[in-house]
Amino acid sequence: MPTKNDGIMIILSSPSGAGKTTLVNLLSKSSNFKTSISHTTRQPRENEEPDKDYYFVDEKEFERLINNQEFLEYAKVFGNLYGTTRTPVIDNLNKGKNVLFDIDWQGADQIKNKKLDYKLITFFILPPSKEILFERLSNRDMKDKLIAEERMKQFSRDVLHWINYDYVVINDDLNKCYLKICNLIRAEIDNGSKDYDIDYIRNHIKKLTS
Ligand code: 5GP
Repeated sequence: MPTKNDGIMIILSSPSGAGKTTLVNLLSKSSNFKTSISHTTRQPRENEEPDKDYYFVDEKEFERLINNQEFLEYAKVFGNLYGTTRTPVIDNLNKGKNVLFDIDWQGADQIKNKKLDYKLITFFILPPSKEILFERLSNRDMKDKLIAEERMKQFSRDVLHWINYDYVVINDDLNKCYLKICNLIRAEIDNGSKDYDIDYIRNHIKKLTS
């Protein structure tokens, strides 16, 4: 049975290229934070460590986990399956650890709809501009310009999900963005005042989608 000493769930989502994974890595270094490790059917990238960045599994194993109802949420993203298993998340929350999720909007929606008895704070991270996003996407391991263009199209669709998140944060400066998220989490936990300007966010989204 959840109690007030339980940890909280913090979801970070973003369109591809907004710098979310770096933010999750920074946040995970704060004491008492555990990052949820997802399962995926995608192939590991060169810099990724199995069982640390992801549990890399084949489709058969993923199907087995679905059929066993082991997932708290799962979704298909860019043609691969991704999912969060329930047991490690609940164990950590019950031990009072805060759990960080680096998952897409589909997973965030599913966790939100579960209405678990643990506090949930959701963040949507956005790039400072479309030009900077395109630059970031073109400089990734995906040097192929076509892929960057495809992800820009995906961006226009993904950005529309901002409305379902508690907070939207613009990643124009990594450290500032990190501190903003930390301050909002602290304010949520302590019921303190929040430095958050929704009109500024709405304007930014208007620019990103025009
Ligand atoms: P990548 O393949 O670049 O690591 O991740 C692609 C997208 O999948 C990112 O938006 C990431 O947040 C999302 N993702 C990673 N793990 C999960 C998961 O367990 N569930 C869901 N729904 N999305 C995930």
